[in-house]
Amino acid sequence: MEKQAKQEKDIRILETFIGCYCRSKHKSPKGVLCEECSELLAYAKLKREKCPLDPKPTCKHCHVHCYGKAQRAKVREIMAYSGKHLMLRGRLDLLWHYFF
Ligand SMILES: [Zn+2]
Repeated sequence: MEKQAKQEKDIRILETFIGCYCRSKHKSPKGVLCEECSELLAYAKLKREKCPLDPKPTCKHCHVHCYGKAQRAKVREIMAYSGKHLMLRGRLDLLWHYFF
């Protein structure tokens, strides 16, 4: 897959995860993110776009550690939370462990 397409795919997955988390944790309406979650998504997008590594390793195995401590903890929480939800709904294809 070409670099741009991979990036867009990663960002779509992120949006799905954060959206799922925000809907059930923060009671946001479908398709809407609360301020906290949209900030995190913007942050994650930026980091993904600026990732200097190609192919990008999973963040767990990456030596760059581009995320700040707080954001990293938050994204991990979101991935674990939404990962469980999405798995229950049969969305294993999203590979929630891909990021962290
Ligand atoms: Zn939220």
